[in-house]
Amino acid sequence: MIEKVLIANRGEIALRIHRACKEMGIATVAVHSEADRYAMAVRLADESVCIGPPPSAQSYLKKSQIIAAAEITGADAIHPGYGFLSENAQFAEMVGAHGLVFIGPKPEHIRIMGDKIAAKQAMIDAGVPVVPGSDGGVETVSAAKKAAKKIGYPVLIKAAAGGGGRGMKVARTDKELENAVRTAKTEAKAAFGDDAVYIEKYLERPRHIEIQVISDAHGNVCHLWERDCSIQRRHQKVFEEAPSPALNQAQRDDIGMIVARAVEKMGYLGAGTMEFLYEDGQFYFIEMNTRLQVEHPVTEMITGIDIVREQIRIADGAKLSFSQDEVMLVGHAIECRINAENPRSFVPSPGMITDFHPPGGPDVRLDSAAYAGYRIPPHYDSLIGKLIVHGRTRNECVMRLRRALQEMVVGGVETTLDLHRDLLEQKDIIDGDYDIHWLERFLADD
Ligand code: ADP
Repeated sequence: MIEKVLIANRGEIALRIHRACKEMGIATVAVHSEADRYAMAVRLADESVCIGPPPSAQSYLKKSQIIAAAEITGADAIHPGYGFLSENAQFAEMVGAHGLVFIGPKPEHIRIMGDKIAAKQAMIDAGVPVVPGSDGGVETVSAAKKAAKKIGYPVLIKAAAGGGGRGMKVARTDKELENAVRTAKTEAKAAFGDDAVYIEKYLERPRHIEIQVISDAHGNVCHLWERDCSIQRRHQKVFEEAPSPALNQAQRDDIGMIVARAVEKMGYLGAGTMEFLYEDGQFYFIEMNTRLQVEHPVTEMITGIDIVREQIRIADGAKLSFSQDEVMLVGHAIECRINAENPRSFVPSPGMITDFHPPGGPDVRLDSAAYAGYRIPPHYDSLIGKLIVHGRTRNECVMRLRRALQEMVVGGVETTLDLHRDLLEQKDIIDGDYDIHWLERFLADD
C-alpha cells in the first residue's frame, strides 16, 4: 500500500500531486532546492527535504539525493511529475531497485519512447500511422539527401533524443539540407549528448492533436479522448483545449481506439500521451510522452477523471476505476499557460509577485503554486500557473475564459496574461480555426 509519496518536482505540478495525495489520505514529502524553500508545495507537504543548491543539475536532477530523501522519510513511492527525471529510465530503475514504487510507466517503455527513432518504429509495428520519414536515423549528408528525395521537400530534421521543441530544422532544398543536417547534429550532441538525427516530411499546416491513454497492470486500457495543442510558440504549447474543434465523434473514437490498442500491445503501464500531427483528415504519430503532461487538466475537466489519482492507484496495483464505456466527454475545456514573461518578447520576468488575485466562479480551475509575496526564482522554467475553464459548449467555455482572464491579477512581474486576453479576441481562436503555425503568424503580424 502506498502511504507516503515523495514528490520529485517543484512548482504547480508538485502542488497538483500533493493535492491528489491528500484527497487519497496519502502523506507527502516535498523535496526542494535552496531556491524553493518557500514554495507552496513545500509549505503544504507533510515533510520536506532540501536536496541541494538552486541549479536543477545539483538538486531536482540528483537521482541519489532524491532516493536518499525517500529513504530517510520512509516514503513508499516517488512521483516525478513532468520534466526533470520524469522520462529518465535509469531513475525509474533506481527507484525500483531501492524497493520504492515509481509512479509512472515501466523503464523499458520510457527508454524506447525516449529514442524517437525507436518510438516511431515501435508505432509502425503497432499499426499506428506515423509521419513519412527516413527509415531510422540518417548518419551522413548523402543519406539525408537520399531520404529527402524519397519523402519530398520540405523536410524536418529532428534529434532522436530531442525534447521541448528543441533541435528541429526545416530544409526546403538539398543545399539547405546539407547545412541543416550538420547543425542539427552538432546541436543535438550539445543539448542531448547524442547526435543521432532523423528526417520527417515537414507538414505545412497541421494541427497538434494528442491522445491521453491510461492502463493498469491487469490489462485494462482506456483512452481519455484528445487534446488540441496547436497554439504553440517555438514548438512549445501555449494554450490547449479538449475536445479538438477539428474532430467529429467518429474520428475521435477511431484514433482513440487505435492508440488504446497500440498501448495494449506494448503492455504499457500508467498514463501516457501519444502525440500526432493532423492534416487533411489524417493522423501522423510524432512521439509518445511517458508521463503526466502539463495540459492534463483539460482532459480531467471533460471526463471528470483525476489522472494523478489514477496514476497513484495504478502504481499501487489497483485496477482502473472506470472502463472505456464509462469515460465521459462532457462539454469543453481550455487551458492557458501563464508564464512570468513579457507577453510579446517572451523574455522571462522572475522576481517578487506583489499582488495575486485568482479568478473564481463556476467551472474555473487555477493550478498554480504562486501567491502574493512569492519570489519566482530565475533558475527554472517560467510557468507560474495554468488557468483551466470548462463550459457546456465551446462558446460558453470561451466566454467564461475571457471573463476569468479579466478577473485574474498578478502584480510585480510581467506575465503572458495579456497575450491570452488578446488571443481570446481573435476570430480564428473563437472559431477554433488554427494550425501549429497560427500563433507565430499572429505574433509576426502584430
Ligand atoms: P519535442 O519532443 O521536442 O516536443 P515533437 O516531435 O513533439 O518534439 O514536436 C514538437 C512540435 O514540433 C509539434 O507539436 C509540431 O508543432 C512541430 N513538429 C514536429 N514534427 C513536425 C513535422 N513533421 N512537421 C511539422 N511540424 C512538426
